[in-house]
Amino acid sequence: MHSTDDRRFLANETDDPLHEAFDRKMTVHAMPRGESISPEELPGLWADVISAEDGLQIRTIYIHIPFCEGHCVFCGFYENAYRSNLAKQYVKALVREMELTAGAPFINARPFHAVYFGGGTPTALGAESLTRLVSTVKNLFPLSNDCEITLEGRSYNFTKEKIEAALSAGINRLSLGVQTFDTGIRKSLGRREPREKVIETLTYLRDLGKAAAIIDLIYGLPGQSLEVWEDDIKTFLSLKLDGCDLYQLNVFRGGPLEKSVAKGSLPRPATLKEQADYYVRGVELMEAAHYRRLSITHWARISRERNLYNLFSRGRSECVPLGSGAGGWLTNYFFFVEGDLKDYLSAIEAGRKPLSFGVRRPQRDFLFRDISYQIELGYCDLEELSKRYDLDLLTFLKPIISQWEKIDLIKLTDGCFYLTRPGEFWAVNLAQILIDRLQKEQ
Ligand code: SF4
Repeated sequence: MHSTDDRRFLANETDDPLHEAFDRKMTVHAMPRGESISPEELPGLWADVISAEDGLQIRTIYIHIPFCEGHCVFCGFYENAYRSNLAKQYVKALVREMELTAGAPFINARPFHAVYFGGGTPTALGAESLTRLVSTVKNLFPLSNDCEITLEGRSYNFTKEKIEAALSAGINRLSLGVQTFDTGIRKSLGRREPREKVIETLTYLRDLGKAAAIIDLIYGLPGQSLEVWEDDIKTFLSLKLDGCDLYQLNVFRGGPLEKSVAKGSLPRPATLKEQADYYVRGVELMEAAHYRRLSITHWARISRERNLYNLFSRGRSECVPLGSGAGGWLTNYFFFVEGDLKDYLSAIEAGRKPLSFGVRRPQRDFLFRDISYQIELGYCDLEELSKRYDLDLLTFLKPIISQWEKIDLIKLTDGCFYLTRPGEFWAVNLAQILIDRLQKEQ
């Protein structure tokens, strides 16, 4: 018997856990949880943090480029339309922000292990801007010799001149959002290039061989049958790139995709049960091609692809946020840089770090991060975490863990549980439920 309290943390009793373990898929919280820091306190806390030689061993830098050349229908991350003059002004401000930040004792205390240019669409920037940003971060911040420096973006308008500029400046990993190779579906979602053009750019990057080349693919898109999904993965495999993320489509409430489907201008996306089948097929194809799994969603062909930034950001690491809309944990605080472009630019002009909000690290945050991180890697070592945090997690979580094991979401061995294939599909739910259960006890 489970206590009433535990019941809401259990999965559905079913013989088909892949399709029926939960009624809905939970998503990773977009914003960090914790007590808010008042706007008056923020500048002082930031100054205290970066003037101390403190912090964790693993450190990263996140640099946000909040522009896109078009709004893709499925996306919840669109911020500002790309305009050449505005982007140039932004790059100038970003360099100034780097100068204001670098040189501080916190920054110089230890090397950084990963730098990530994310967005938006960083590849929308011009060649000169790319060179300037990458060179500035390399010149001003102490980077480890094996630092992963990623440029995120898309193949559209990522010209040979821009590619050359980014690679010469020091980018050693390119992560391009392809989503699907199907020309018709791409068009319907606002992706401008046909299959052939995307393949041409990816082949060019692969043949240059100067940086790891990674792509994202999404399953469950409107109009994407299981056959189209299989073709997407087989096309990726035939290109012999270095790695790939296989993501599930996330339909944002009130977003353009939901509206287009409601209007009938796009076919419905895959149901959750269909997505589960797409997930399994994706894993089968990647395993049959002997790709190595770096996380539930991420695959590598060879060890050149490490996926460091994404893995570090889920675990115990510091992240220096730079650019409008960037955010990151530094010591016990999360800092979010002003997302309104106008406000960001005028604060930089005035020589201020433009922070718009922050939170304090909540109690047990490191335990929760360890749980999420391990589950993202396909396991959760409750015995080891119990020792690390002086808690008896195996006993405390036993009603939940036993039920999950009974319906084949996990296998428990020596105090550590491993996700089964259905468990992998529901990985975010499993992590979130354990965190919610432990939080309830605080
Ligand atoms: S998918 Fe990329 S390019 Fe398209 S709107 Fe989103 S962030 Fe911009």
